[in-house]
Amino acid sequence: MLENKDSLKTPISSMGEFALIEHLTKHFEIKQSSTIKSIGDDAAVIDHKEQTVVSTDLLIEGVHFDLSYMPLKHLGYKSVVVNMSDIFAMNATPTQITVSIAVSNRFPVEALEELYAGIATAAKYYNVDVIGGDTTSSTHGLMISITALGEVDKKQVVYRDGAKENDLVLLTGDLGAAYLGLQILEREKQVFQVNPNSQPDLEPYSYLIERQLKPEARKDIPALLKDLGVKPTSMIDISDGLSSEILHICKQSEVGCTIYEDKIPLDPQVITTSEEFNMDSTTIALNGGEDYELLFTISQEDYPKIKANPNMTVIGHILKPTEGTHLITRDNTKIPLIARGWSATQENE
Ligand code: ADP
Ligand code: MG
Repeated sequence: MLENKDSLKTPISSMGEFALIEHLTKHFEIKQSSTIKSIGDDAAVIDHKEQTVVSTDLLIEGVHFDLSYMPLKHLGYKSVVVNMSDIFAMNATPTQITVSIAVSNRFPVEALEELYAGIATAAKYYNVDVIGGDTTSSTHGLMISITALGEVDKKQVVYRDGAKENDLVLLTGDLGAAYLGLQILEREKQVFQVNPNSQPDLEPYSYLIERQLKPEARKDIPALLKDLGVKPTSMIDISDGLSSEILHICKQSEVGCTIYEDKIPLDPQVITTSEEFNMDSTTIALNGGEDYELLFTISQEDYPKIKANPNMTVIGHILKPTEGTHLITRDNTKIPLIARGWSATQENE
């Protein structure tokens, strides 16, 4: 049986490097008019009409992903998504990506086909061209690095450093689900190691697992903000939890802020599952990660334009730098926000 299965697996070494690249990339179509030269030359050529934004992420097996529960197709998809999220956080439109991989001979050609199927699906959904990359071997494991390019009108670009006193702090979607999805997958992995015949019922956690294994970046938000006629004063994507991201905005903008615990949007599955894990759902929203929602600030005068919008929630406001950065809890306690974990001691002023 095993031998039979293994015979279906084509070792990477049986294909030359060029044949492998050609095999993996031949189906990629070019859709962006700014892509002048794509895969196949020493470098790609791009002709953006507006300003170019660039962002890179590097993902390492065992550090950023675990292939025992992350299917390669999902990994390919998610590697693209994390980069799209960074481009949207600049209020820009992604246009091209490059994909670089290092693989050990543990991976057959079929595994790379899966990875590339996920990359192709994401490239199609986010309307970006795959214009190049690099392929090399590694002694252990898989590494994948994606660079995304995007375009933005120079008047529309949004940085982390533009938040002003009295601005409102807004958040898209809800927080904490991806972190809890990871906890569920880790738990099931351990159950499986003890009893490989166990059949877990993951239905109650479907949203959490989807947010971990198949996240999406908020491509709707830059377009929506444009339609509403709102240009955020600052923006960042949530990859490391609300706490550290709002602190990035405050530090770079040289302002303080107050966030209200009761305003932080949580999915019902996040609430029930954090109870099951005996964890505080606010702590998870503040310090979890991989939500890929957008956190941004707007001027008070833009409030009427976003007031009734179901895609975003006002969770706080910006203050003078001397006011510091705090969370107001449900019982009206003022707690300093800290990156990764928040101090439970009440502030003495
Ligand atoms: P060079 O030796 O000049 O770096 P390569 O032989 O590595 O060129 O790559 C040939 C072409 O294939 C280039 O256009 C490169 O961008 C593209 N390419 C290489 N590896 C990948 C990959 N993993 N995914 C997408 N494109 C790739
Ligand atoms: Mg190369």
